[in-house]
Amino acid sequence: MNFLEERIVRDGIVKEGNVLRVDSFLNHQMDVSLIDEIGKELYERFKDADITKILTIEASGIAIAYAAARYFDLPFVFAKKSKSVNLDDVYSADVESFTHKCVNKVVVSKKFISKGDRVLIIDDFLANGCALMGLISLVEAAEAQVVGIGIAIEKGFQDGGEKIRALGYRLESVAIVDSMDSENKTIRFRQ
Ligand code: 5GP
Repeated sequence: MNFLEERIVRDGIVKEGNVLRVDSFLNHQMDVSLIDEIGKELYERFKDADITKILTIEASGIAIAYAAARYFDLPFVFAKKSKSVNLDDVYSADVESFTHKCVNKVVVSKKFISKGDRVLIIDDFLANGCALMGLISLVEAAEAQVVGIGIAIEKGFQDGGEKIRALGYRLESVAIVDSMDSENKTIRFRQ
């Protein structure tokens, strides 16, 4: 097991409805050393990809994107959830939330992703892929290129990863959960 898988086993909580709670170290209380390690790991995996910008989505992607951005020495941008937007100034996409069961409009200012940018998308979780599909559409609307997608925890038993890899994107996840069981509290990772 790698460092993130070990931490998930130690402190993650498997909830009903295929939800893995990691709020004691990743997306509520944050373990900065662990998040730094995730940032470093994503840097190691994508350092050859000639990235010019990192994109994530608020809120829980921000810390991981920040950690990675320090290693790349690049700016990162986070897509904001927004109710009222002036569509002249922003790229926007609708994103269905797996955990909150609602649809959010997410936006990025046109100032911060430019034609020709080589973008690494980062997020904390990948489940059904809705968040990523929204972020991909923002990058493509800007005529920039998605050169990689870096995820902390992919839930491999949901179809987001398969869908996104089938589209040809280079998707790397630090930990891939292949199955989890809320009754026995067991978690199995992809080798
Ligand atoms: P997707 O759009 O791929 O279905 O879900 C990704 C988003 O939903 C992530 O940004 C993450 O915030 C949230 N998410 C999905 N599954 C889980 C989960 O099992 N646990 C937690 N904590 N968040 C999740």
